[in-house]
Amino acid sequence: IRVKATSIKDQDEQIQGVVVVLRDITELRHLEQVRTEFVGNVSHELRTPLTSIKGYVETLLANDNPDSAIYKRFLNVVKDEADRLEQLIIDLLDLSKIESGISGKGYEAINLNQVIEDVLTIVMPKVSDKELNLKIDVPAELAMISGDESQIKRLYINLIDNAVKYTPNCGEVKVKVYEDDEKIWTEISDTGIGIPSEDLPRIFERFYRVDKARSRNLGGTGLGLSIVKHIIEQHNGMIDVESEVEKGTKFIFYFPKVK
Ligand code: ADP
Repeated sequence: IRVKATSIKDQDEQIQGVVVVLRDITELRHLEQVRTEFVGNVSHELRTPLTSIKGYVETLLANDNPDSAIYKRFLNVVKDEADRLEQLIIDLLDLSKIESGISGKGYEAINLNQVIEDVLTIVMPKVSDKELNLKIDVPAELAMISGDESQIKRLYINLIDNAVKYTPNCGEVKVKVYEDDEKIWTEISDTGIGIPSEDLPRIFERFYRVDKARSRNLGGTGLGLSIVKHIIEQHNGMIDVESEVEKGTKFIFYFPKVK
């Protein structure tokens, strides 16, 4: 609590009373802490691939004539790490754009059937690579929702990408859509590794990952789900998750229908 006291004096400089202002700054402190933590996380996440790039380049430079196989191997690592840096920067920029509520286009009426069809085309190669059984249960006719189409696509891509990433070969990924009077619901479920219950409340936080090493190896930035949550909230929806370790995970979210 921050306290500020001011005395009230009359014409003869006699104190007549005191005004005390008490301000609860718990929330402010908390925001400051979240910000500091975020900047710390970003710096760390940016530095990790950079350190690795510098290390490999310096090793190559220190060696007078490394053979071409070593060259190739080291340059491939440098490329992977540069890709990771690029993805991280794209995610960070997207997140800040979405958070600040600035989007390139205004809201338009969106047909989720079309969005899902486009997204499935994008994720299909990864689904086939892992020989996953992809089940789609989407009604042919759906009410429209209002939003930014590229953001809505982004959120479906992030969730389906995760379902694919965290499900072993030959598992199942399911996309189910249904509507009630006011909302359109989507469930994206998988038969993957699941999320331990103690981690569940934190997975939408920026950079939170159940297993940092695994996520990094799979090309994750730890920002995907926080981007998803922000997009859904900007569109007046809500998201929830259910999961069981080694059984699978289900994300459930809705958007309000356009009346
Ligand atoms: P990442 O880039 O690491 O995938 P996300 O923000 O998309 O970051 O997800 C945060 C964490 O939540 C992941 O690192 C992973 O531990 C967990 N997670 C997300 N989706 C799933 C899923 N479908 N199955 C199991 N774990 C998941």
